[in-house]
Amino acid sequence: MLAVTNYFMEYEKMLERLYACLPESTKKHERFEMPQVESFIQGHKTIVRNFSAILKAINRDKKHLFKFIAKETATSAAIDDNNRLVLNGKFNREQVNKLIESYINQFILCPECKRPDTKVVEKHGVKMLKCEACGAISSVKGL
Ligand SMILES: [Zn+2]
Repeated sequence: MLAVTNYFMEYEKMLERLYACLPESTKKHERFEMPQVESFIQGHKTIVRNFSAILKAINRDKKHLFKFIAKETATSAAIDDNNRLVLNGKFNREQVNKLIESYINQFILCPECKRPDTKVVEKHGVKMLKCEACGAISSVKGL
């Protein structure tokens, strides 16, 4: 077992080195890789177990996502001590997934090229979505 683990670690290291040699442009994901929502219902609450992984993938201000979720579900949401998202109300996994997906479509994907390599910039006090892939700067409502 140990031998297998070591082998695997070596393999990982090798991949890392390979990866480091790649030109910057090849590293960028063409498609947005979003972890699937892991949620379950507990009593009258919905708990999203892997919320921190989702946040990491989205790489945006968590308050913004939080506000969006609270608004869309018309309920209150909180983050518990284990960094899990707790929604007041029962939502199945599909509903939570759709919610996150719509956030990504609205605030992450570039409206021009649909790639996820965007960041929020401010122009004259207005928040805009700047795409690192195609260079487009788009105004997005509610950003
Ligand atoms: Zn773009």
